[in-house]
Formats: sequence, structure tokens, C-alpha cells
Amino acid sequence: MVFAFVACDKNDNFVVFSTENDVQLGLQVKDEIAKDASIKILPAAQYPEVYNFLYHIRDGILNSGKVAYKDEFAWEVYVIDDDKTLNAFATPGGYIYVYTGLIKYLDNADDLAGVMGHEMAHADLRHTVRTLQKTYGVSVLLSVALGKDPGTLGQIAAQIAGQLAGLKFSREYETEADEHSVDYLAQTEYACNGAAHFFEKLTASEQAGQPPEFLSTHPNPENRIENINAKAASLGCDTSLATNTGYDAVKASLNKSS
Ligand SMILES: [Zn+2]
Repeated sequence: MVFAFVACDKNDNFVVFSTENDVQLGLQVKDEIAKDASIKILPAAQYPEVYNFLYHIRDGILNSGKVAYKDEFAWEVYVIDDDKTLNAFATPGGYIYVYTGLIKYLDNADDLAGVMGHEMAHADLRHTVRTLQKTYGVSVLLSVALGKDPGTLGQIAAQIAGQLAGLKFSREYETEADEHSVDYLAQTEYACNGAAHFFEKLTASEQAGQPPEFLSTHPNPENRIENINAKAASLGCDTSLATNTGYDAVKASLNKSS
């Protein structure tokens, strides 16, 4: 028998789902993504440069002292081979996915760290389960987490991966994730406003007529650059770019034939 209990979590949010349920649901979504023939995960064994680079960013964020579920969540990282998609996402329980399109698009390790911080914040702050809970209700979500509702799981996995209509976070959640990204990066070697660089580049691309996929799942880009920079200013954290990160070499390694 499974008991759902009502409690506040470490971030003082009212969440009915337990954090174990987050990890269970994340694992289900991860398995669903692995089964999806349209999503190709780059094998870590063949792309050690790329994976080690992302692990380094992840570990810096996890060691920031600002991640509430550092030890409870999985924090696994996967790269999706899709150069056309400028996106990244995290499932509940901390399974993180980064598209090759995003890695190739960004200019600096700091920018990528900013986006990863943002996505990790969505998982750590449990934005995804809090959003899904409203849509599906707790009992359905629990069945999905326990592997008892494959139909709904398929739908949720597609939403989280940004297919179909995608998962829409509230503006409040987006702002919260942006600000946490600054908080995390403030404790790392990366420019703490790295997430702002990404939006600056996207806004410029949008004006140049390229489709900004990330903005469709992350609405209301207005003021986000400003908010991120204001958060950085209030923390007084370092906004200078990290040096010798090897980001160009990582991008080049993605172009090698596997
Ligand atoms: Zn977001």
C-alpha cells in the first residue's frame, strides 16, 4: 500500500508527492525517453569530453551548498543528439537532458552552466511535480510514478521533453529558477549571470528570424535578462567569464563522427 501524505518540503513548498516519488517518476520518464526511437541519447562512452564537461558543471552546482535535494535526487546527465533544438530540461528527481543544439549554439561554458542551473532549479524546487500535480491530480501521478499508468506516463514524458504542447511553467516558477541559477553559479567558477547570456543570444536570434524553441517552453522572456542581472547585482557575485574552460573543444568533439 502506498500512502500519500501532505507536508511541506525542504523548500517550504506544499507538495503532496514525496521526494521519493519525484525520483520514481523521474526514473519512469527516463525509461520512457530511452524507449523513444525519435530521441537519440549520445553514448557517454563515445563522448567523454562532452559528458565530463557537463558533469563538471553539474558537480559545481551541486557543491554550491544551495541545492536542497543534492543527495536525494539522481542528478544524472544525458545529451540528446539533436542539433536543431535549443533546449534542455530536467525531470522530477533530477534527470537532466541537454540537446546538442544548445551546446553548439552557446558561446561560453558560463552560458551553459546558467541554463543547467535553471533546469536543475526546476527539479530541486519541484516545479515539475507541482505543475503536473495540478494537471493530473496526485493519485494519477502516483500511479505513473509507480509504473502503473503507461499511457499517462507517455504523455507526461513527451510534455517534459518539450514535445506536444510541452510543459508550461508559471512565470513565477521561471523567475524562481532563473534566480536560483544565479545563486548556484555564484558559488562556482562560472559567471553567475550565465543564464542571462543565453536569453540575450536568443533575443538576438529571434530578431534575426530563427525559431527560438526554448522560448516556447519558457514563456515571457521580457525582463528575464534584467531580473537575472539584478539578482547578480544584489548578490554581488562575479559576472566575469570563466577562463580556459575548453568549451570550444567540447563543441568540436560533438562534430566528430561516432
Ligand atoms: Zn524554465
